[in-house]
Amino acid sequence: FSVAHRQRVAVLGATGSIGGNTLDVVARHPDRFEVVALSAERQVEALLALCERFRPRWAVIGAAHLDALAVGLRERGLATEPLAGPQALAEIAAHPAVDTVMAAIVGAAGLAPCLAAARAGKRLLLANKEALVVGAELFVDAVRSGGAHVLPIDSEHSAIFQALPEDPQTWPQRVDKIVLTASGGPFRQRDPATLAAVTPEEACAHPNWVMGRKISVDSATMMNKALEVIEARYLFGFAPEQIDVVIHPQSVVHSMVQYRDRSIVAQLGTPDMRVPIAYGLSWPERIVSGAEALDFATLGALTFEAPDRRRFPGLFLAWEALCAPAGTTAVLNAANEVAVQAFLDGRLRFDRIHAVNEGTLASFAPSKPQSLDDLLALDREARVHAEQRVRAYAGA
Ligand code: NAD
Ligand code: MG
Repeated sequence: FSVAHRQRVAVLGATGSIGGNTLDVVARHPDRFEVVALSAERQVEALLALCERFRPRWAVIGAAHLDALAVGLRERGLATEPLAGPQALAEIAAHPAVDTVMAAIVGAAGLAPCLAAARAGKRLLLANKEALVVGAELFVDAVRSGGAHVLPIDSEHSAIFQALPEDPQTWPQRVDKIVLTASGGPFRQRDPATLAAVTPEEACAHPNWVMGRKISVDSATMMNKALEVIEARYLFGFAPEQIDVVIHPQSVVHSMVQYRDRSIVAQLGTPDMRVPIAYGLSWPERIVSGAEALDFATLGALTFEAPDRRRFPGLFLAWEALCAPAGTTAVLNAANEVAVQAFLDGRLRFDRIHAVNEGTLASFAPSKPQSLDDLLALDREARVHAEQRVRAYAGA
């Protein structure tokens, strides 16, 4: 093989759940991929261990930990260059020596590097759904003007991408709607009256997937699916009313496309994030992902049900936000990040995550964001609003 033709991959959020799965797939194909950059927020030891294994050109960490990273790299005799902070992340994401950016940072913190990668025309593997929810039209414009290829990593969006025709120009004529499946999370059958007492450990115990804590809480409230509806809107361009959600507890059908003639194309597989990651890395080819094959003989029943509005009120904020003025999806995301963190910190009851989100949306009228700076300012302001609501509950 030719080393010159290896895809040079930057994994942003390398110490997380998606980051780890990405490196697992990449390590299976040393002939195809070369890891050139790795990042983490504060897990210095974990990042050093990855640097030792993958020997990247750069490692990026949160500013407070740069010294520890530099010392650790020196002690290990590694040539990896230590960098720190959001600016470094954006520079790496746009660097000419990077072909592919895995966006696996959690939250709006990943927006700037995503926009940088989009403008620089990279292959952008998008796990960081919050970046698209916040960036919205601006993100879409950056992708278009930069000529980037966005490959969805969220399993639902990868499924839809695989079930859609190759040529996006044909989608409006051919497609009726898309249907996102949702597992329903750990509280699908729980009495809504008991949700006030839920602990972070219960909320993070997802029945089908092992994931970071933020997305696990989002799955328990179904805000994850709300974010995914918004993500689908901007990834594929369908109108809000062409995006449906159905609960499918087995997480085997990863999502579906319904065509004009009522034919439905679905993508199926075991619930293993290495499948969409491998597809994003290899598209339009296919490579070994490491995932188990689906065994139909032992599969049993696949079931579907409508999401319950009383149990999962947060889900329905997605369509509301999409039909509201530009910037509203960024406000919803910011409120939710604040509320989820407050819940994880033991400062907010589980059932009040929705109250904070809904209240922030209702009391906050965004003006149309025109730039990354506008978005970041809007994000900051919405966080202040949401934090006030969290405090009001704590004082009550
Ligand atoms: P995680 O918490 O396991 O990992 C997050 C990573 O981002 C870590 O490497 C962390 O160091 C880094 N990070 C966190 N905050 C940061 C900040 N402020 N600045 C820079 N880096 C920061 O999360 P995860 O489960 O891997 O999820 C990552 C993203 O992928 C999320 O947007 C999530 O919604 C999405 N996603 C995850 C899954 C999954 O199965 N885990 C599935 C679909 C989509
Ligand atoms: Mg998903």
